[in-house]
Order: sequence, then structure tokens, then C-alpha cells
Amino acid sequence: MSTAPGPAIEVLLDGYGVNTNLGLTALCSVLLIEGTDAAQRPTRILVDPAHVGRRTFLWEALAARGLGPADIDMVVLTHAHWDHVQNIDVFDHAPLFVHPDERHYAHSPHREDWATPAWTGDILERMDIREIEDGDELIPGVRVVDLAGHTVGSVGITVENSDGLSLITGDALHYAHVALTRANPLVFWDPDQAVASIDRAVSLADVIYPGHDQPFRLTADRSIEYVRPFCLTITGATPDRPGLSFSDERAAPWNMPGIADLAGRKAEFEAAAAARRAQRERASG
Ligand SMILES: [Zn+2]
Repeated sequence: MSTAPGPAIEVLLDGYGVNTNLGLTALCSVLLIEGTDAAQRPTRILVDPAHVGRRTFLWEALAARGLGPADIDMVVLTHAHWDHVQNIDVFDHAPLFVHPDERHYAHSPHREDWATPAWTGDILERMDIREIEDGDELIPGVRVVDLAGHTVGSVGITVENSDGLSLITGDALHYAHVALTRANPLVFWDPDQAVASIDRAVSLADVIYPGHDQPFRLTADRSIEYVRPFCLTITGATPDRPGLSFSDERAAPWNMPGIADLAGRKAEFEAAAAARRAQRERASG
């Protein structure tokens, strides 16, 4: 056993579920993991580079730490939705880690899947893709867990150090309250898998880094305890602006129309997974 404290996890850009009646802001959590690889070389992993509306903010967040894009060694996608992937080209020097099912689906998304535009597969293939799935170790202390349901190839990333186990969930768990409601607000692949993935995330982690909310832990009496102060400034308007209003109403959980069509494609993904398992067994055997 190593006596090192282990890899560190840090929020680069906060995720938050603020939305409007005119469109989604889609602020996903952007995370930085700093550890060492198996050869003890310092390694920085960026998880979910976010959408282009946040590109300059991402540059600034890196610069505030004395870093630039070139200092990122690996980029991981929890899944291939537009608001998580668009800045991958900022890191085109680095390998891009994505689940093979997510990669495959991104080339033929369902017509109703507004979060996976038809160009998604093309922008992924511009990168040096490395496929990851459940159990894979990115660097010591940093592992992949399958959290399918929101999308076919959603993954979480666990970061284990002397503080415990942190889990980056992507949109397998958008918001802290989902840990209690057990209802994924946006399901594009499989509602039952989505519930199982929420349960898996909650059972695994000491601290959860949700897809669109701040990191939190569940206390012994199952209340949500955020581990960072909340900070969001809305610019260009003040609360007394005529016509501006605030609401804490949440949209009801939503399943993609036509999601039943995808059942017909499950055999295709299962066959591909079986082929990958067989290949791995041959490689290790
Ligand atoms: Zn998503």
C-alpha cells in the first residue's frame, strides 16, 4: 500500500442547474484531477471540458492555477453530450478517454436526441481516442465506473485518496437532490439503468461531484451537505428589472420521445460489449 495521500480532485468550473425559459445554460461541472501515473510522473486529468460558451472561462480557470491547456495530460468524457464535449479541441494534444458505446452511439444518435447532435461522432474522431470502461484505472487511485442510463455509455470517475472516495458522476446524477429522488431528470437511453446508476453512485461515494451541481455528501440522516460555498453571479440584469423573474420550479423527469426505439439497438451494443470482453480475455490470457 502506498502511503502517499493519493490523487487530488478540484473543481475547475462549477456545475450548476440554473436554466431559463429561453434556453439551457447547461453549466456542467469541469473537474481537474492531479496525481501521478504508474511511473510516478505528475499527471493532470481534465474531466468534461464543457461547451464553447465556457471556453474563455476554462482558459481563465486554468491560468488562475498557473496552467495552460498543454499542461493537461488526459481528457475524460463522462458522456458525449454537447455541453460536456464541445471544448475537446482545446486539448487536441491529449488523448481523449470515452466509453466505446458512447463513441459508437455518437455516430448514429436518435433523431430526438437533441443533446447528441449528428456531428458529435465527427468531432470525437478528430481526437486521439482511448476507450474506457468499468474497472479501468486511468492512473493509480483514479478509476472508471459504468453509470449507463442517462446515455448508453455514461461513466463515472472515482478518485480515491486519504480523504475517501470522490465520484464524478457526469449526468448519471445531474443534481444533488437526485441522490434522494432517484429520478434522472433527462433520460436518453434507459430509465431502469438510470435508476441503478444513481443507486450505484450513492452507494460508492463519500463525496459526489454531480454533472450540473456542486460537490456534496449525504449525511447520516440523508440530507445534502455541499462541500463548497455557492458562487454564481448573473450579469446584465438586476432582480428589479421589469420582466425578470425567478422560480425554483423543477421540470418533471423526462424520457426522450422515441426512447423505446432504442430497445431495438440494445442487442447491437451488447454484441459489441461481448466482443470487447472476448478480446480482452484473449489479450490477458
Ligand atoms: Zn448529459
